[in-house]
Amino acid sequence: MIPSDGAPKLAKEWFKEKIPDDLLVRFNPREIVHVHTYGGLSKFFKGLTEGALLGTKCWNCGGPEGNIWLPPRVHCPDCWRKMTWMTIDPTGAKIYSHSTTNLPGAGFKGTVPCPLISLEIPKVWTRPMSYLSKFAEDEPYIGMPVKPVFRRRNPTYTILDLAWVPVD
Ligand SMILES: [Zn+2]
Repeated sequence: MIPSDGAPKLAKEWFKEKIPDDLLVRFNPREIVHVHTYGGLSKFFKGLTEGALLGTKCWNCGGPEGNIWLPPRVHCPDCWRKMTWMTIDPTGAKIYSHSTTNLPGAGFKGTVPCPLISLEIPKVWTRPMSYLSKFAEDEPYIGMPVKPVFRRRNPTYTILDLAWVPVD
């Protein structure tokens, strides 16, 4: 927005010096649109909008059970081979660690205060980070059984489409 007294005043603010009256100054405000691809991780973010938790597994490094990465990796961080997509069964998931923040950040659509959690999920190799979207006064606690909830309506196509709640 150009102030009512014109571009020279704005230029003086920006350049921190007086702009000569005979110098033509023009401002062209622009709006930035950021476009990016999710690349090989598209399937994971699309899965969240469909209520599916998808990870990847390296058959070279892992045996028939377990060794699933969540969030997924397209290529195995250990042997660099392409990984295989797996649907994760969250049954038995529990809180591995937690910390509560009162300032979860701009654009965050969850609760305040917000319990940030890391998870222990059967057959999952990693300890994924997420947050609890519903909790009681004495929650969370380590070992607390939880289940995922998905933002299927009006998804953000970010990791915030996934949250966790206590198992009933
Ligand atoms: Zn591997």
